[in-house]
Amino acid sequence: MDFDALFTNHLDTLKAEGNYRVFADLERRCGNFPRADNHKDGQLRDVTVWCSNDYLGMGQHPAVVTAMVDAVRACGTGAGGTRNIGGTNHHHILLERELADLHGKEAALLFTSGYVSNWAALGTLGARIPGAVILSDEKNHASMIEGIRHSRADKVLWRHNDWRDLDRKLHAVGDRPKIVAFESVYSMDGDVAPIREIVEVCEAHGALSYIDEVHAVGMYGPRGGGVTEREGLAHRIDLIEGTLGKAFGCVGGYITGSAPLVDFVRSFASGFIFTTALPPAVAAAATASIRHLKESSAEREEQQQRVARLRARLDAAGIPHLANGSHIIPVMIGDPVKCKMISDILMNEWGIYVQPINYPTVPKGTERLRITPGPLHSDADIDHLVTALSSLWRQCALAHAVA
Ligand code: PMP
Repeated sequence: MDFDALFTNHLDTLKAEGNYRVFADLERRCGNFPRADNHKDGQLRDVTVWCSNDYLGMGQHPAVVTAMVDAVRACGTGAGGTRNIGGTNHHHILLERELADLHGKEAALLFTSGYVSNWAALGTLGARIPGAVILSDEKNHASMIEGIRHSRADKVLWRHNDWRDLDRKLHAVGDRPKIVAFESVYSMDGDVAPIREIVEVCEAHGALSYIDEVHAVGMYGPRGGGVTEREGLAHRIDLIEGTLGKAFGCVGGYITGSAPLVDFVRSFASGFIFTTALPPAVAAAATASIRHLKESSAEREEQQQRVARLRARLDAAGIPHLANGSHIIPVMIGDPVKCKMISDILMNEWGIYVQPINYPTVPKGTERLRITPGPLHSDADIDHLVTALSSLWRQCALAHAVA
C-alpha cells in the first residue's frame, strides 16, 4: 500500500476545508513578552503575541527564570527516571506540597502535562472503581474525553453547564459509583461553570466531583487557586486538576485531592508510572511561580484590567466577541477560510499574532480568533490590535455587531 499517498490525500482534504494547521515559528523574547521573533522564509519579523496561554507572563518572570536556571545548575537537566525508579527529585516533592496547599487538599500528584493528568486520572478512576459511570459535560476537553474512553467506563454526557440536566442524569444512573467531570473555565468559549450548583448536585447524589481548572489556576482566587478558590468551593470538590503550563508559565499537570484518592491514582495510573518524571528544574520553576502568585495579585489584577480595556475597545469598534466572564476573548468569525485569512493578514501586515481556531478544536461554523490579553500588553498594543481588526472587518466584509 502507498501509505504516503493515503496521508497526502487526507492532508489535502484538510487543506481544502481550511483546517490544515500551520505553526507560527516563534522565538519568544524573555524580558520582552509579549514580543517575539517570527521566523518566516529565512526572515525575522517582530510580532506581538495575542494568543498565548502564558496568561500572566510568568514564563519570563525573574523569580521563575532564576529558579529554573539555578535548579539546572544544581540538579542537571533531566529527572533521570520515572518517579518510581530514581526519578523523584526533591523539587517534585516540594512542588506537590505547594500544589496541595494551593488547593487546600491533603495531597497532589504531578504529571508531564495537563493532558496526561486528565487522561491518566480519569482513565484510572473509571477503570478501577468497579461499576463506575462517568458523567461528562458535553464540552469537556479532549484530554478528559480520551481519559474516559481509555477507562472503558460507561459514560453519560450532560448538557453544557446544565446542572439540572446533570441532576436528572445522575438520578437515572441510580445506585452505582458516579464521577462527574467538568471544567471551571472552558478553553475556547471562556465561559465559567456554575460550580456551586454542580457541587450541590454531586453531593446530593454522592458522586465524586472532578474539576479541570487548567484555565483558571494562577488566574482567579486570592492566591491563584482558581475559580473554586474564588467561590470558596475547593473543599467541596473531590479532585481538582490543573496545569503548570499556562498561568504558571512552565509545563506539567497535576491532580489534588484526599490522600487516599491521590495515592490510588499514583499507584494505578500507567500515565504516571511508566514515564520519565518532569525535569527537576521545571518543578523548581513551577514552585517559584506558584509561590509568587500566591503572594502577589498584581499580575491577576493588571490582566483583568487589560481584558476589560480590550473588551470595551472591541465593543466600541463593533467587533463581536463572546461575553463570558473570563479572560478569554473569542472573536467569532464563523468560517475557517476567512479565519485563517484574517490571522495571516494580522501577522503579515500588522505584526500581530493570533492563531486561527478552527475545527476540530471548535465546532464547524464557530471558527474564531481566541485573544488572551495579558498584564504585559500595553495600551498602545491594544489600540494597534483594535485598529487592525477594524480595518480587517471592513476589508473582509464581516458583520459588525453595532451598525
Ligand atoms: N484541560 C483543558 C481544558 C485544556 O484546555 C488543556 C490544554 N489546552 C488541557 C487540559 C491540557 O493541559 P496541558 O496543556 O498542560 O497539557
